[in-house]
Amino acid sequence: MPYGGAKANPLAIMEYISTRGGSAPLNFEQVTLTGLAGDGGLYVPKKWPKFSSQEIVEMAGLSYVEIAVRVMLPFVGDTLDETELRDLCEQAYGRFAHSAVTPLAQLDGQHWLLELFHGPTLAFKDVALQLLGLLFEKFLARQDKHLTVVGATSGDTGSAAIDALAGRDKVDIFMLHPDGRISDVQRRQMTTVRAPNVHNIAIDGSFDDAQAMVKRMFADRTVTDQFAISAVNSINWARLMAQIVYYFFAASQLGAPHRKIAFSVPTGNFGDVFAGYVAGKMGLPIERLIVATNVNDILHRALSSGDYSTGTVTPTAAPSMDIQISSNFERLLFDLEGRDGVKTSGRMAAFEESRKMLIDDDMQQTAAAIFTSHRVDPDDMSLAMRWAQEEAGQVIDPHTAIGLSAARSADIDPSVPIVTLATAHPAKFRDAVERASGVRPSLPRRIGDLFDREEACDQLPGDYDTVKEFVTSRATPADG
Ligand SMILES: *Cc1c(COP(=O)(O)O)cnc(C)c1O
Repeated sequence: MPYGGAKANPLAIMEYISTRGGSAPLNFEQVTLTGLAGDGGLYVPKKWPKFSSQEIVEMAGLSYVEIAVRVMLPFVGDTLDETELRDLCEQAYGRFAHSAVTPLAQLDGQHWLLELFHGPTLAFKDVALQLLGLLFEKFLARQDKHLTVVGATSGDTGSAAIDALAGRDKVDIFMLHPDGRISDVQRRQMTTVRAPNVHNIAIDGSFDDAQAMVKRMFADRTVTDQFAISAVNSINWARLMAQIVYYFFAASQLGAPHRKIAFSVPTGNFGDVFAGYVAGKMGLPIERLIVATNVNDILHRALSSGDYSTGTVTPTAAPSMDIQISSNFERLLFDLEGRDGVKTSGRMAAFEESRKMLIDDDMQQTAAAIFTSHRVDPDDMSLAMRWAQEEAGQVIDPHTAIGLSAARSADIDPSVPIVTLATAHPAKFRDAVERASGVRPSLPRRIGDLFDREEACDQLPGDYDTVKEFVTSRATPADG
């Protein structure tokens, strides 16, 4: 359904620049197919597009797909026209099991859940990766190029990326996971996908070992000279772009722009909450973004006391938030520092050396105008899970419970709605949910036969040369 008064793309030119200032600007098509910038930075739009209050008023009552088109059109520049973008959104979001795509559920007078888990693999990563898979296919066909996606996963990204890329033209995906260290649902969501372009590799080692091998492959000229290697983690700009949409969608339903809305975001790599920050930059009236962390609290320390230093990761019931470093935090630092790539580059080089960074007072204060943070321990996580069950009959997953716990302890005026992002379906982490709350969530019907399907996975030792040989002997060269 076309929307009234369709207009030409107001920002037909949209350039992306590196946070470290040392790489040439790219357009949206190039930035989608690239991972990290050559100077080690992350790509961001040169300017944040802005909506007027009237344009946000006009979002009221629109479908998810229509809001997606309006929000993303300025970012794609002249690489896609409105009809092409709408067509991709209809395909991507047509695969969601709820007709609202990301519905809101009310918990009490102030608290809401934004259910982001109705995609094929039961976590919010589907929202961005379903679209990214289609963007890859479209842009690769144009360039007549072949892409090799290599990634390491602790669970959710791998399953969402495999589902999004299985069977697509001109792209192969090699996904490494630490053998025996991901949930049975997560593993089966990857290994039961049978498509010739999907390669699952169980590594004898930890997630960090797998991640280190992937990073080494990206820097290995004997691989990159022949293959176009790409990433699907949240350093990819297109993923963040797709996540901005649901902030507008939810806020519009709750009365924006006439009323401010707060969001609480279970945070790991800082991608999801950064998308909320961008929504604010684009004109959405956001009262507060609550950065909820578990005991792996580097972001809480950085935002509350300026201490961004890495420690060791403690495994928790919310494994997608068990991180040491939040890659996307660099995108915020760049903005806070006046978009000065030289400064950000110096700051990141020093951090990579010492694994420590002090955030200056003025940057902390600028951040505090929009962000607050909260560290949630396992007891408070369980309490929030039980509160949602008793108060509203909602069974929530551990990641969501951390967001909700942070939302409930935030000091926000009771007239401001607080939306907690429900990032995973409780069934995806059903053992942890059962341990914390006594309720065992059942798997949704749409993935009901997951445990009857046959698995396919290669087991490899934690040895770089073996993994490299495995990938290069099966992948298709860039121009092949
Ligand atoms: C990836 C993930 C997160 C963390 O999101 P970031 O964008 O990395 O901050 C939170 N919850 C779930 C369920 C996830 O899969």
